[in-house]
Amino acid sequence: MRVRVLGSAAGGGFPQWNCACPHCSRVRAGDLHLKARTQAQIVVCLDEGGCYLVNASPDLRSQILSTPLLAPSHPPRHTPISGIFLTSADVDSVAGLLSLREFQPLDIYATASVRRIVNDENRIFRVLERANPPVCWHDVAVNTWLPVAASGPSDESSVRFRLVPVGNAYPDYVSEGLRRLLPPEEAVVGLVLAQGNKQMFYAPALGGRSRDWKDWARSSDICLLDGTFWKDRELISTGVGSKTAREIGHVPLSGAGGLLQEFDSARPGRKILIHINNTNPVLDIGSLEHREVRDAGWEIAYDGMEFDL
Ligand SMILES: [Zn+2]
Repeated sequence: MRVRVLGSAAGGGFPQWNCACPHCSRVRAGDLHLKARTQAQIVVCLDEGGCYLVNASPDLRSQILSTPLLAPSHPPRHTPISGIFLTSADVDSVAGLLSLREFQPLDIYATASVRRIVNDENRIFRVLERANPPVCWHDVAVNTWLPVAASGPSDESSVRFRLVPVGNAYPDYVSEGLRRLLPPEEAVVGLVLAQGNKQMFYAPALGGRSRDWKDWARSSDICLLDGTFWKDRELISTGVGSKTAREIGHVPLSGAGGLLQEFDSARPGRKILIHINNTNPVLDIGSLEHREVRDAGWEIAYDGMEFDL
């Protein structure tokens, strides 16, 4: 399967529209040490045909339009996109669903809780039901292997997926009444995709107390992990927010218990940071933090990055 990074920034993209921090100001001014990025989005295209979006970023329309392999191939309507995996109900993960409303039958795979939040509590997403047949939501149990539909009949060579709990915080916008009913382990998941003995793990938000993600990341040939923040107090120290990284569901890269320290640097396979916030110093290729991350064996995702699994 082939994976393409359509967007590599955290929520709001890079630069953020109303942010005058040094990074955003420098990228607006054309500083070549920093690269503009759209909001985190990947697409996975199977050898057997059929492409799957992982989440639906607020930038999804422009991301699809700038990717020729995702263009329709015949009239009146067509898309190589077969379905969408959702890793959370965050605005960053679901807003782009509204850009897919032009009468296209699609399959959406998510935990039952994410489906309830998106579809039951936010009726604007019912616009997807206008397709004929309508968009089909699939409630996916966590920690269970399932076949990916477009990969054909299930056998050893078919593609399978699994949703792994990685965080227990539901988005702020979810009503108190619904929040009380939802199991915490269905709030934020990572996606494991596997074919034969090859495996990829995608988790743009690593929060909560679960440590399972480390086993999935270690055992994967390629992992794309939460590169949102360098420091836990980054939003506070840069003056653009009042909460720590951990309080909003992201383990920081540096410091005690940070991703760099927690992750075994000697593991084989590729490890790639994605969902990088505008405040993160690793965005500046001239920074010490960028060098530290690269020296520890990490790659930093960029819009247009591609690789095969
Ligand atoms: Zn900024």
